[in-house]
Amino acid sequence: MTIPEAEERQTPYGWPEERQPAQGTRAGDRRSDLPGLTPGAFTPESARKDFPILHRTVNGHPLVWLDNAATTQKPRQVIEALAGYYSAANSNIHRGAHTMAREATDLYEAGRAAVADFLGAPSPDSVVFVRGTTEAVNLVAQSWGRARLGPGDDILVPVLEHHSNIVPWQLLAKETRARVVPVPLLADGQIDQDAYADLLSSRTRLVAVSQASNVLGTVPPVREMTALAHRYGAKVLVDGAQAVAHLPVDVTDLDADFYAFSGHKLYAPTGIGALYVKPEVLAGLRPWQGGGNMIDSVSFDRTTFAPAPHLLEAGTGHIAGVAGLLAALNWFTSFDLTAVAAYEEALTAYARQAMGKVPGLEILGSAPGRIAVLTFTVAGRDPAEIASWLDQEGIAVRAGHHCAQPALAHYGLTAAARASFALYNTPEEVDRLVASLLALDGSD
Ligand SMILES: *Cc1c(COP(=O)(O)O)cnc(C)c1O
Repeated sequence: MTIPEAEERQTPYGWPEERQPAQGTRAGDRRSDLPGLTPGAFTPESARKDFPILHRTVNGHPLVWLDNAATTQKPRQVIEALAGYYSAANSNIHRGAHTMAREATDLYEAGRAAVADFLGAPSPDSVVFVRGTTEAVNLVAQSWGRARLGPGDDILVPVLEHHSNIVPWQLLAKETRARVVPVPLLADGQIDQDAYADLLSSRTRLVAVSQASNVLGTVPPVREMTALAHRYGAKVLVDGAQAVAHLPVDVTDLDADFYAFSGHKLYAPTGIGALYVKPEVLAGLRPWQGGGNMIDSVSFDRTTFAPAPHLLEAGTGHIAGVAGLLAALNWFTSFDLTAVAAYEEALTAYARQAMGKVPGLEILGSAPGRIAVLTFTVAGRDPAEIASWLDQEGIAVRAGHHCAQPALAHYGLTAAARASFALYNTPEEVDRLVASLLALDGSD
């Protein structure tokens, strides 16, 4: 299928502006000497030029988007894939014998193959399209957990997990009379591995752990935790919502039974994500929603089902979303991802050091090898006040509980502010954040 090149068009925000130099280009060049980076390595401008939205202003200032852990912005290639799909290729899939239905089906399945490739999955058939991480976790709870768990069974969930990797297990535990067992954290935000080893037992049916925390930035040793869980016969679900944009992912190397992520945190549209299921586990999953696409034949006497992954995809999927996800994966993997990771690490280290100059500012979590997420408090300031102060300066950070109330409670907090970085953020943006935080100090 060919999607025509989108024509240049003017939007309310005045793009296309990628033809103009990106904000911060000049200054970005000045600072390409971030400690730890060699000349010629990844530069944020090479990504920035693709993001129309990064050239808008907010409250009279050039936008500084530091809310990437909540959602990333979308490159022109993704926006054009959506527009191109609806302009030239819209059709339902997997049925109908006409040309466009076949083209849309091919596109959808090309998206599935690209996700499998990106995740290191053995086959596209092990990838189920979902709305996002939350839906993926609920799918596993229903399709895998409901028939298998019962009284006396344990689901181990580290305290740093996102609510979407806690609450579905609580609902499942309530239904099946199983138990959700929290795995404690150490002071620096790492999962207490001794406690984890002690909590594992022959009662453990599932360990649900994120590959990277959205609040503390912690990157748990998921591979080792998975190997240990498997010794007890437990399955492991890995929440990859934060990891996919920052870390190399290889579900085969991790030996994960389930791996979930959301497209919108990986430069793709909202409403589309994927769940990888290990082939031998996938074979035992039950349908969780009934409807079209997931059946083989239906009668009032007997209904038979399509094989996985279609079995788990009832109804019309987010076909345009898959087109966008495919474009996002093509765009993202066109960079040298090792260089991107090195850049993000250097930028985060720079930010951490620069933010240290702000009186009373404390960053949560100090585990080694963290992702580009800095959650912080400033003594005497409400996090919501910090976020709205920064917003006046065009700087978007998040304030609140970040859907991880137990992780914040570990630090005796109910709310904090969070700056989270992506490959298009620059040291100048960090400087603007720090300058605004310093100005907050004298602002009463
Ligand atoms: C964002 C996030 C989720 C939830 O993702 P949705 O896209 O809202 O479904 C789950 N886990 C982590 C670690 C996240 O950052």
